[in-house]
Amino acid sequence: MLEPWRTGRVTRIQQETPNTRRYWIEIPELNRFDFKPGQFVTLDLPIHEQKNKRWRSYSIASWPDGTNVIELVIVYLEGGLGTTYLFNEVKVGSELTLRGPQGVFTLPDPLEKDLFLVCTGTGIAPFRSMVQYLKLNELPHGHIHLLFGCRKCEDLLYYEEMTALSESMEGFHYHPALSRENKEGFHSGYVHHIYESICTEKKEAHFFLCGWKQMIDEAKQRIAGLGYDKKSVHQELYG
Ligand SMILES: Cc1cc2nc3c(=O)[nH]c(=O)nc-3n(C[C@H](O)[C@H](O)[C@H](O)COP(=O)(O)OP(=O)(O)OC[C@H]3O[C@@H](n4cnc5c(N)ncnc54)[C@H](O)[C@@H]3O)c2cc1C
Repeated sequence: MLEPWRTGRVTRIQQETPNTRRYWIEIPELNRFDFKPGQFVTLDLPIHEQKNKRWRSYSIASWPDGTNVIELVIVYLEGGLGTTYLFNEVKVGSELTLRGPQGVFTLPDPLEKDLFLVCTGTGIAPFRSMVQYLKLNELPHGHIHLLFGCRKCEDLLYYEEMTALSESMEGFHYHPALSRENKEGFHSGYVHHIYESICTEKKEAHFFLCGWKQMIDEAKQRIAGLGYDKKSVHQELYG
C-alpha cells in the first residue's frame, strides 16, 4: 500500500561535490520515519501541471535511526527539471511534499551470501544506508564489497566515511574507482573489472546494482558472463 503524501522540511543542505548536494529532510508529522535500508522516497515538485510529471524519486542515503529525519544525496543534471528546482529554489526551511518509503531494493534475508554493491555517483545512497544499518545493528553478514565509481577525486561521495567503515567493520571492503584520474589507492577505470577480478571462483553472491542505465546494463552482461544467474542480480535503475 502506498504511504500518503506528507510535508517534509529541509533542515540542512551540504554541497558535497561540485555537482552533488546532501539534503536533510525532517517529517514533523511523524515521530519516526520507518523504512528499510535501500528504499526511496518520491518528491512531488512544483515543476509541471501534470501530477505524475512532477514526481522524482530519491534513495534514502541515511539509515533507520529512530528519528524523523532522512538524508538524500542528489546530483544536479544539466537541464533536468527536478534537480534545477532542487538546486536553485530549495533552501533550508523549504517544504517538500514527499511520499514513502517505497521500493524493494533491500537487503536479502538471510544474509548468508557475499554481497557486491555496485554503484556510480549518487547510486551509493542505498548502499550507504545498508552498510551503516548492518554495522549499527551488529547483524551477521558475509563479505560485503562496495564498488563505487566516479570520474575524479573531487566527485567522491562519503569517501572518508566508507574508508573508516572498511577499517572498523569486519568483512566490509571498499573499492573506489576513478574513471578520469589516476591516483594511488584508487582503481582506475570503471567498476566492472573489480568484481570480475574478485569473482574468479564464482562463489555464491548477490549483486546489487544502483545508478544509471549504461552502468547497470553493462554490469548485468558481465555478471552473466561470469556465470551467475539472473536471480543473483538486483537493480535500482535511476534513469
Ligand atoms: C528509485 C529511484 C531512486 C533514485 N535515487 C536517486 C538518488 O538517490 N540521487 C539522485 O541524484 N538521483 C536519483 N534518482 C534519479 C532521480 O529520480 C531523477 O531522475 C534525477 O534527479 C533527474 O531528475 P530531473 O528532473 O533533474 O531530470 P529530468 O528532466 O527528469 O531528466 C532528463 C533525462 O535525463 C536522465 N538522467 C537523469 N539523471 C541522469 C544522470 N545523472 N546521468 C544520466 N542521465 C540522467 C533521465 O533518465 C531523463 O531521461 C533516482 C531514480 C529512481 C527511479
